Amino acid sequence: MHDTIVVGAGLGGLTAGAKLATAGQDVLVLEKHTIPGGYATTFQRGECEFEVSLHEIDGLDEGDAKREVFAELGVFDAVEFEPVPNYRVRHGDGDVTLPHGREAMEAALVEAFPEEAAGIERFFDVVCRIREEISEFPMSGGSLRTLLTAPFTSPTLLRYRKTTLGEFLDSLVDDERLKLLLSFNYAYYNDDPYTLALPFFAAGQGSYLAGGGHYVKGGSQALSDHLASVVEDAGGSVELGRLVTDILVEDGRATGVRHEKTNTGTDARTDRARTVVANGAIPNVAEHLLPDPHGADLHAEIGDFERGPSLTTLYLAFETPLCELGNDHYSTFVVDESVDALSETATNSHASFGRRSFAFVDYSQVAADLAPEGQSTGTVATLDEWDNWAGLTDEEYRQKKAHVKDVLLRRLDEQIPGAADAVAHAELATPKTMHRYTRNPGGAVYGFAQTPSQSLLNRQIRAPVSDLYFASAWSFPGGGFSGAILSGYGAASNVLQRDSRAEPAAAD
Ligand SMILES: Cc1cc2nc3c(=O)[nH]c(=O)nc-3n(C[C@H](O)[C@H](O)[C@H](O)COP(=O)(O)OP(=O)(O)OC[C@H]3O[C@@H](n4cnc5c(N)ncnc54)[C@H](O)[C@@H]3O)c2cc1C
Repeated sequence: MHDTIVVGAGLGGLTAGAKLATAGQDVLVLEKHTIPGGYATTFQRGECEFEVSLHEIDGLDEGDAKREVFAELGVFDAVEFEPVPNYRVRHGDGDVTLPHGREAMEAALVEAFPEEAAGIERFFDVVCRIREEISEFPMSGGSLRTLLTAPFTSPTLLRYRKTTLGEFLDSLVDDERLKLLLSFNYAYYNDDPYTLALPFFAAGQGSYLAGGGHYVKGGSQALSDHLASVVEDAGGSVELGRLVTDILVEDGRATGVRHEKTNTGTDARTDRARTVVANGAIPNVAEHLLPDPHGADLHAEIGDFERGPSLTTLYLAFETPLCELGNDHYSTFVVDESVDALSETATNSHASFGRRSFAFVDYSQVAADLAPEGQSTGTVATLDEWDNWAGLTDEEYRQKKAHVKDVLLRRLDEQIPGAADAVAHAELATPKTMHRYTRNPGGAVYGFAQTPSQSLLNRQIRAPVSDLYFASAWSFPGGGFSGAILSGYGAASNVLQRDSRAEPAAAD
């Protein structure tokens, strides 16, 4: 009998497992893949290590709730974070470098759009204030929720809780090019600025403005491996290649799981626990893991929730560091020239791959340690959706992948001439790939979409049975590295709070 079983070793599951194990619990983490991390992983081809997901992780400044989490779990002692220098945004003839930090970024934008100075100042003011309000609440004891249950102490958050990023920008500035620049990385959060909840955007964006962006030396696998080692060093175990097929429920309580070897379905086992934490996608918990009527109850609870977008990513190795071809930016956002207004970005997310806006990351611009001396790796990423790839035969899927790979490579070469000729290895991952490795429905990368009606307080999804907790991009507060890590920490804090309430009071 374990104290807690965690279903899935993504960042949410690993953080929950690590916090509970270091609090003295007997923790078992079960992961269907052969490595821990979910999307926070790397893979090897030849001499190069390829980053599956991470472009950058926000904040790590004093106001960042993750600092407390990372300090507690020894992350800063074991993992090195490389600051990411700046962003380049290209849009038609426009080519703007946005420095990190509120003052520098605001100054650069005011210089380029002096007639919009008041709106620009208001934008940064509100984004930073929302982030400050959020960071005023300590994380321990699951008290991040306090922020949302006492919104009157958070006036900016309260005021904008129903506002989308697009609506907010429309209310502040007129110039569409400026709106696109102020929201250049909206795809880090959702596929449409006009459905993206401003507070969720501001929490992340304010964190980037205050603390900058960072890459993990050696890739995000280093962070996942560390969290897995924290579980094991504290006496818990992380079992890989184990697919959880059922969450057991007795008398309205989660009491354990049934699991088997991932690819063969053999070696089935049942393990019992006082608590189950689900890191795998909540829709899968409802549909596949919980018995009815509890699965149906959870299904009803999330019935109207829409899932967020997926991403298609082209993983690239180059025979040369790209700075030798003239690239000196870490992140380049290419807004397609067919996009004239912010309101056109959502349509562009579904445009052909020859027209869809994309981001390119050149990992050789930081000490990423992913490629041997003289080589480099990078990724081209575009928003994408399951339906673009569903219903194809194997051959059609293979051909479409080859075509999209060529298109994205050509478009990268237009930005960095010579890049295509320097490619030593290219490999495309689609929403289907994302799904295959994580089981996230539709290959979603940020869980449920962060619309105002699915964000903040509205994202508090009740488990249909006691002693079952959720810790993933699909739960509160949401997706991205930060969201998943905080969800895991919050879930573990809630488990510990439940236990402390259940403990008999000490005798006088
Ligand atoms: C290409 C790409 C780029 C990204 N870039 C960034 C970025 O720059 N910055 C950022 O902050 N975020 C980024 N993200 C998003 C971020 O990676 C995710 O939101 C976050 O890692 C999700 O974490 P999670 O805890 O929800 O778990 P997931 O990563 O979804 O992992 C869930 C784990 O559970 C396991 N699992 C599921 N079901 C079962 C089962 N039944 N039994 C056993 N195991 C199971 C899966 O195998 C998986 O390992 C990116 C994502 C992608 C794909």
